[in-house]
Amino acid sequence: MEGSWLALGTIMNIKRTDNAPISQNTSDEKWSNVRLRLRAKVGEAAYNSWLRPLEAFPTGDGGLHIQVPTKFMRDWVVKHYADLIRSFWQDECGAVQPAEIEVAVAVGKEGFSSSNDRPRNLNNSGDQKGNTELDLDPRFTFENFVVGKPNELAYAAARRVAEANTAPFNPLYLAGGVGLGKTHLMHAIAGTIRGKYPGRRVVYLSAERFMYEFIRSLRFKNVMAFKEQFRSVDVLMIDDVQFIGGKESTQEEFFHTFNALIEQNRQIIISGDRSPSDLDLMEERMRSRLGWGLVADIHATDYELRLGILQNKAEQMSADIPRTVMEFLAHRITSNVRELEGGLNRVLAYSNLVGQPITIETTQEVLKDLLRANDRRISIEDIQKRVAEHFNIRLGDMHSPRRARAVARPRQVAMYLCKQLTTRSLPEIGRKFGGRDHTTVMHAVRKIDELQQADATLGEDVELLKRMLEN
Ligand code: ADP
Ligand code: MG
Repeated sequence: MEGSWLALGTIMNIKRTDNAPISQNTSDEKWSNVRLRLRAKVGEAAYNSWLRPLEAFPTGDGGLHIQVPTKFMRDWVVKHYADLIRSFWQDECGAVQPAEIEVAVAVGKEGFSSSNDRPRNLNNSGDQKGNTELDLDPRFTFENFVVGKPNELAYAAARRVAEANTAPFNPLYLAGGVGLGKTHLMHAIAGTIRGKYPGRRVVYLSAERFMYEFIRSLRFKNVMAFKEQFRSVDVLMIDDVQFIGGKESTQEEFFHTFNALIEQNRQIIISGDRSPSDLDLMEERMRSRLGWGLVADIHATDYELRLGILQNKAEQMSADIPRTVMEFLAHRITSNVRELEGGLNRVLAYSNLVGQPITIETTQEVLKDLLRANDRRISIEDIQKRVAEHFNIRLGDMHSPRRARAVARPRQVAMYLCKQLTTRSLPEIGRKFGGRDHTTVMHAVRKIDELQQADATLGEDVELLKRMLEN
């Protein structure tokens, strides 16, 4: 089988046969030729953005090791230019089945560090001499961060730290559950400082990475170099500090590093999935140190923020998504922003693939698993009860055959909310409303959808009910 590029992976296995004709060009010439052809093919702008920065190292057996400066770029190149690079390189080598081609993030470029997804096939056993990897996600900027009540303090604090001349609060501790934007804010801080104060040495790494580097330095007996490396930084960011818990020697080292930096008034930024006082595996003295500066909580998202994030994201991608679908997603995917984004992406990908517009129905179908996991189990009974109370009718009217507008309309609202807020099918909903047919439910859903636009009072009623039911 001919090797193929993996859309999101980094490695493609393509083996070269021994009797394939071997071109007389040197590897450098081959790669130059590939570059020329790529440039001609994709145009100047795309070439400059994505392909010029590639560094290629022929592996000697017909393969190619390509380095890119960032993870984002790696994914982009693999996704968009893989086939071209492969085919041009194969042409150059005259190979039927060329050897392995690999795209990896370069190590040792600048004074940044990240734990994020090290290149898997890179041999990085060598001494890094304090140089670490630049790996900021270019999407994680302040501009792309949507601010709402739950995250406004963390955002403001992050901005202040990024723009300040001296550490305004030290440390800044960002506390929040998974997928709520901690890493995003930290990258945004790093990116801003890089732009504003290029001379400053900023190191960003996860607590796990910190531990790994420290333990490695113990093993290779270069603890001094390790200490130097961290104690000479201007800004130190440690992501997901909860993972340091329990490892005593690492905690000890972290504690000393921390103190040394604070004493010199260097900025420290820490993130954790809970507040410092709740880091139960952390030593008491460290816990209290972490709380010395400003602890900024990132709270769970609310509906407004989720909707804002979806709109922002859709705009960024120039994707045309009906407002009702965005509202649906904002109501239903409440776990965290990562899942919300993932849901949106899946819906977009699906609609692209099948060439159909996005509707609530397709969304429900495509995101079945995600929606179920996010289901807060609002029951049809809850909805009926709330709606009856709200409109001041008897609960029994939800099941009764009465058609008077005063009861029929609230009943339709209830059906509509059942469709929006639960994963029940139309027939299931119909059954719970006095054994009505699924077409009746469908009609109710359409009707209320329409009326919400036309009748502001009803629109508010529905909105209010949704919120009450969701809290
Ligand atoms: P954490 O580090 O807290 O687990 P991340 O920073 O990795 O979470 O965020 C998860 C995803 O959600 C990222 O793609 C990030 O860009 C996005 N995200 C989180 N909060 C926001 C926000 N307020 N505005 C825009 N995107 C956000
Ligand atoms: Mg994170």
